[in-house]
Amino acid sequence: MEERILLCLCHMSGKEMDFINEAFAENWVLPLGPNVNGLEKDLERMFIPTADSMPKDGVTVQSPDLLLSHDPALLERKRIVALSAGTAAIHLGLVALGVGHGDEVMVQSFTFSASANPVTYVGATPVFVDSEPDTWNMDPQLLDEAIADRVAKTGKKPKAIIPVYLYGMPAKIDEILAVAAKWKIPVLEDSAEAFGSRYRGQYCGTFGRFGVMSFNGNKMITTSGGGALVCPDEETWRLVMSYATQSREPYPWYQHERIGYNYRMSNISAGIGRGQMTIAEEHLAHHRRVQQQYRELFADIEGIELHENPGEEFDSNFWLCAITFVPDLKVRGDDGCGRPEAMRRALEARNIETRHLWKPMHRQPVFASCPAYVNGVSDDLFSRGLCIPAGPYVGEREVRRIVEAIRSSILA
Ligand SMILES: *Cc1c(COP(=O)(O)O)cnc(C)c1O
Repeated sequence: MEERILLCLCHMSGKEMDFINEAFAENWVLPLGPNVNGLEKDLERMFIPTADSMPKDGVTVQSPDLLLSHDPALLERKRIVALSAGTAAIHLGLVALGVGHGDEVMVQSFTFSASANPVTYVGATPVFVDSEPDTWNMDPQLLDEAIADRVAKTGKKPKAIIPVYLYGMPAKIDEILAVAAKWKIPVLEDSAEAFGSRYRGQYCGTFGRFGVMSFNGNKMITTSGGGALVCPDEETWRLVMSYATQSREPYPWYQHERIGYNYRMSNISAGIGRGQMTIAEEHLAHHRRVQQQYRELFADIEGIELHENPGEEFDSNFWLCAITFVPDLKVRGDDGCGRPEAMRRALEARNIETRHLWKPMHRQPVFASCPAYVNGVSDDLFSRGLCIPAGPYVGEREVRRIVEAIRSSILA
């Protein structure tokens, strides 16, 4: 049996242990400390542009009250909090937005469940919005219609909008921001899969009022488990920091005036993150190179389409590469299980891990009672798509093996 190829395996720089050893040497073995602060600084250096490094022709939706703007003065003020998970970051973002019982939140349906779960933690209801076919992300037009319908039906505006950057692909965030500005609803970007992706030169996760990052083991960089929340300004950053550390007020005794959470990142995990940040750009270059190799090899296989940046504004990190089968393509071993499942089994037999595209949230039993605005796009993609490996251990040889395995599983 040939060696196993995994979807996306974590890959160390070698510097992680230095940061961890330092933490042990100085006895910083707790959820705060120099590595946590250091990782936040590293992230801010990468993601928060200064006036000089600001893309010139970026997104220009103006709505200062919602902080949706591309205005350099607003972008520069952003700060980042390191947390125990991306899921915790979404939860605290919703808490900081004041989302609570009886509220509704517009959530992209085509995503991992972690985008929607935290909405229920605060007692709110996710309202699912389907995708558009170019980016596979939230359809701005459908979002607008869905909000109008929610307002008509409930007499209340949804409290937040959660677009997702699926597999690292930027959403049409300028159009989503325009809808958000029209309705004056804040945006919480789920950028968990899009570390380093850009839209018109600006990093995903820095457009909305809040942006979410994940450093889980299989994401672009890892802290073993962890996440971060991009906050609009110092004041909000302090508020989120307080929520993340049990909402302790500054008194000599333990004084609490709000319900708090234990969501801060461990200083040991953050040490891994600091090591990872030294090779973040290499990881990004690698994933884009893998996509390029797939592009070349799939070029002469009819019936397989590689999910690509739909235009010049989009710059995906290609966290996972994804393919779709054209309607009349037939896959060997499709005994009624569907083409993605037949292909997944065929590749598994050759020791290659692949994964179905995310099953849309409006199809999940757990969210069956939630309102959903669907257009068939995510259902269609789910029925004919597959994620294929793209991690740091996927080299040219592995890409060839994967593409050959796919080619030989197609029925002529
Ligand atoms: C991974 C992921 C999350 C959650 O991040 P964790 O760090 O695993 O909690 C949220 N949303 C999406 C789309 C993800 O892929």
